[in-house]
Amino acid sequence: MAKPEIDPEKCVHCQDCVAICPVGVYRFVNKRVEVLDPQSCLGPSCQMCADSCWKMAISIKVNVPSL
Ligand code: SF4
Ligand code: SF4
Repeated sequence: MAKPEIDPEKCVHCQDCVAICPVGVYRFVNKRVEVLDPQSCLGPSCQMCADSCWKMAISIKVNVPSL
């Protein structure tokens, strides 16, 4: 299972990742971008959000066991 994570120290909440993710993993609420639905992530074969993030705040972790 893949798990997208945003580094809160780097993210400036520009919403680029919200716009580019084809499956709606991210959302913008209360002026902050959050990981809303990590389970929908297509994994490292996609990586579009991480590539789009100009702050390099996103990492797609793999083999994270689901709880
Ligand atoms: S693209 Fe990067 S900096 Fe912009 S909201 Fe997403 S994680 Fe934050
Ligand atoms: S890797 Fe792809 S599917 Fe997963 S959060 Fe990023 S843009 Fe969305």
